[in-house]
Amino acid sequence: MTASVNDWQWLYRQLLDRWGVQHWWPAKTPFEVMVGAILTQNTAWSNVEKAIARLQAADLMGVEKILASNDANLESCLHPSGYYRVKARRLRALCAFLQEEGCAELPESLRERGALANLRRKLLQVHGVGEETADSILLYALQLPIMVVDAYTKRIASRLGWCTERVTYAELQRDIESALVPGDVAMRNELHALLVELGKNICRPRRPFCSQCPLRRRCAYGAGQERPGN
Ligand code: SF4
Repeated sequence: MTASVNDWQWLYRQLLDRWGVQHWWPAKTPFEVMVGAILTQNTAWSNVEKAIARLQAADLMGVEKILASNDANLESCLHPSGYYRVKARRLRALCAFLQEEGCAELPESLRERGALANLRRKLLQVHGVGEETADSILLYALQLPIMVVDAYTKRIASRLGWCTERVTYAELQRDIESALVPGDVAMRNELHALLVELGKNICRPRRPFCSQCPLRRRCAYGAGQERPGN
């Protein structure tokens, strides 16, 4: 990693100046954030919204309700989010975990069941919960200070020349964390949301719109994109 503390803080300021506060995560309750964190794996958010709307219409938005539901009903609700059988199993596993922790009634009370590192370890043991999902739950559902890293973050950081494309989740997370104010949940919330905004709309996988990018003047990849139309 070659990014300094100042680099990440500069990036944060540029993105915030450009797009402002993002008001993440788009959900009505912490449990809905947790459900969304599972359902958003390998699919667009618009598909997650459809699945969540179906869960609500079927009155299944609750830990006990999901655990008591039958497979056909639950899978039919999750259908729009893709991989619906896999996601149904993962959602049940998360709900079983919350129940075991005594958080079925109030899923956000999970944050009182231990320190952040301990909760993260436990979440990573739940079937279907990887690092990005665990950190999304910790940050956006439980309001704990941990940076979420995703494919957008990796692509942007590597194009800026701050890491290689082979950087691991843990390495990139450690690097960004070292630049953030310890304990600042709001800053982590915004930074991840802003990186998603940039990665989705401007720093696309192919033919990024570098001419519209607020990071261009310090971007190694962007400096090579001088041709008209970019
Ligand atoms: S200048 Fe281009 S490559 Fe660099 S971060 Fe912006 S959009 Fe991505």
